Amino acid sequence: MNSWTEAVIDMTQNANQYDLLKFWYRDPIETAKWLLRQTYNSQNLVFSPERSFTNGIREYGEMYTGDWWWNEQDKLTTGASLVPFIFLSDSTYLTAYIGDKKIWSVYMTIGNLSSVVRMKPTTHSVVMIAVLPEKAKYSAQSDISRQKQAIWDHWIVHEVLKVVLQPLFDYSRNRDPNDTHPSLYFHTLCGGGNWHQCFVRIGAWLADYPEHMALQSLHANSCPWCEVPALKFGDYPSVFPHRDHQVYMCLFYNEDSTQRVAQLTEWGIRMTTDNVLWRL
Ligand SMILES: [Zn+2]
Repeated sequence: MNSWTEAVIDMTQNANQYDLLKFWYRDPIETAKWLLRQTYNSQNLVFSPERSFTNGIREYGEMYTGDWWWNEQDKLTTGASLVPFIFLSDSTYLTAYIGDKKIWSVYMTIGNLSSVVRMKPTTHSVVMIAVLPEKAKYSAQSDISRQKQAIWDHWIVHEVLKVVLQPLFDYSRNRDPNDTHPSLYFHTLCGGGNWHQCFVRIGAWLADYPEHMALQSLHANSCPWCEVPALKFGDYPSVFPHRDHQVYMCLFYNEDSTQRVAQLTEWGIRMTTDNVLWRL
């Protein structure tokens, strides 16, 4: 398996807390290559979408039976393989009843592996790739306000994610300039002994509600999936558009600050930090 890399974030702007923040992570692209080339997984790897039917009724199960994979596959050249990255993260207590030590780990796996294999701990198909810094405990004696510390905590998490997910941007240099659907790709040998041109997509990020709020830079009482205002929660069917991270990113860097602040705030977006997940 690919080794851990040490990284450091310069915290000198935040002189009240740390100087340098050190953390360890694994390259997600190298992790995906490692998962693909395991021979014991070769019988359970899928590189193309399928439609399954029982008595004429479409059945959905594995990721490759969904419409999403078909739609993404249509954007690729013939023979190319889609590799959906699945990230998982959760903050977990390391101690029970005593102390409050927590760890916020990020794991990854790929949608090409059948869920039966992915979910079996002995196949080691879900790999830890990073540990995010837990929120610093607020102290009343601190020189900064609680609100300012919350902004810093949020900023730190996104700075760490920027470093961890940087390999996905590096691969974008392989992008074909004529490609109307820009893609990140790499070449690798699979467990079955074949070479694949693998196109990266973020297939899913599994996390609980508070964590989606942090990862997507949303204020509490927002919907992670659509732009419904809090007072309209529960309305069915919802008429509000799905969240479009590309729009948020463009607006975040919009020169007209009055317009962008008003619009992003209305959609429940925290304006305190750029979000790396908007670019993927
Ligand atoms: Zn919603």
